[in-house]
Amino acid sequence: MSEIRVRFAPSPTGPLHIGGVRTALYNYLFAKKHGGKMILRIEDTDQGRFVAGAEDYIIESLEWCGIKFDEGVHIGGAFAPYRQSDRKAMYQQYALQLIENGTAYYAFDTPEELDALRKKYEAKKETFQYGPKTRKGLKNSITLSKEETQQLLENGNHYVIRFKIPENETVTVNDIIRGEVKVDSSLLDDKVLYKSDGMPTYHLANIVDDYLMKISHVIRGEEWLPSAPLHVLLYKSFGWADKMPQFAHLPLLLKPDGNGKLSKRDGDRLGFPVFPLQWKDPKTNEISSGYRESGYLPEAVVNMLAFLGWNPGTEQELFTMDELIQSFSLERVSKSGAKFDLEKAHWFNHQFLHRKTNEELSVYLEKMLVDNHIVFNKSMLPAICELIKDRVTLLPDLLSQSKFFFVAPETYDEKVIQKVWKTETPTLLSEVLPFIENTNPFTAETFEKNIREFCTNKNIGMGMVMNPIRLAIVGTNAGPSMTHVAEILGKEEMIKRIKKGVEKIK
Ligand code: GLU
Repeated sequence: MSEIRVRFAPSPTGPLHIGGVRTALYNYLFAKKHGGKMILRIEDTDQGRFVAGAEDYIIESLEWCGIKFDEGVHIGGAFAPYRQSDRKAMYQQYALQLIENGTAYYAFDTPEELDALRKKYEAKKETFQYGPKTRKGLKNSITLSKEETQQLLENGNHYVIRFKIPENETVTVNDIIRGEVKVDSSLLDDKVLYKSDGMPTYHLANIVDDYLMKISHVIRGEEWLPSAPLHVLLYKSFGWADKMPQFAHLPLLLKPDGNGKLSKRDGDRLGFPVFPLQWKDPKTNEISSGYRESGYLPEAVVNMLAFLGWNPGTEQELFTMDELIQSFSLERVSKSGAKFDLEKAHWFNHQFLHRKTNEELSVYLEKMLVDNHIVFNKSMLPAICELIKDRVTLLPDLLSQSKFFFVAPETYDEKVIQKVWKTETPTLLSEVLPFIENTNPFTAETFEKNIREFCTNKNIGMGMVMNPIRLAIVGTNAGPSMTHVAEILGKEEMIKRIKKGVEKIK
């Protein structure tokens, strides 16, 4: 096989959807598996849909996920430039090449004329298509004489160059995932390739650039499958059929209930991010949540996305990026849409968090403590992380699960008070305090042993003492093992909080 070269080719029309991240990921896994190159090309020919900041957002998102490029708009490369607006000047010659060989033509119909036609068809309950059936009645270089066409061009009339879809031809797209996809060309329309403002459309720029950049495989979302027959015809018209990349159209990402495509608007409505990073709309200032800011680890997001449309064919579910590269194959990508599953996303994140060392987790926790202006003793953090990590799904849980270590409760859960704070509790706790005072060294084991001894002597259950202690320490009945909490908090703080509890809880 000649060199594997794949590209991720987003349009900077807004934040990158996680479906787009998955497309980039599959391209990356495929390229790296085969020792190929991964390219980032920005397709910004539709200037009307350009959104400021979107390109930087795309780059930052992919970097966060650990998807690395060999060439691209941000790092350059042998086929630069990699932004289509910077390549503008090179597309015209290709459009003209197709005019020359008769597979494209000039069309002079004004937007108003086309609009009127569309309305006329709608009234008949039909859809207007500029194509084999209609082009002969419209204002273009097929119906006009050579001289008339020349005159219009010289007069500076607005025009577009349209591809001339062949009539009654079966176009075959060979798709690695879907096999042979056959389309009757008469269903296709004469797409605009180039406009007199000097801008190519997506179709022309995409094909020319894939050709010039020697792209070997086009791996993209299923929403582009309907364009693929046109792309195949374009390769043929240019005489590049033998250089045509192989296609692989990835299954759609579906809403959790399987009802339709996961859209950019779904995220915060359904309670999970659809964007890798938080995005602030530059026009409306509206904020959409991101995986990063919601406390997901990039490794978990990557693993989750890899499984939305692909599986390794084994029982293994947890994969590092390197393992994904080893195992990935387009042949194991499914044809049918993949349902987004929030519970699974949480599961992946929990698994990856759990695999971090206590020191690594401490770094995250430290940042949150600082951001929240909470005073803390850094040396306590690894032990705290060890104790709470079973209970952590998203990064912010590190803080919510451990906050009581740093901030003593000011209020106590009423329901828990009803349950665990009996008439004799204040007396019991006052009596247990000297036992705690005399626990030396003060560890989880010695603390437990002494409390147990106290309870045995009193002939009461451990819960009679431990439950109110937990309430005094945490403010509620939740949290990790009390004896370990005691060891980390230390004797002084334990005594202080128990005394305060006895005073305040009625
Ligand atoms: N610019 C297109 C997009 O947004 C690229 C499609 C393709 O990969 O051909 O998504």
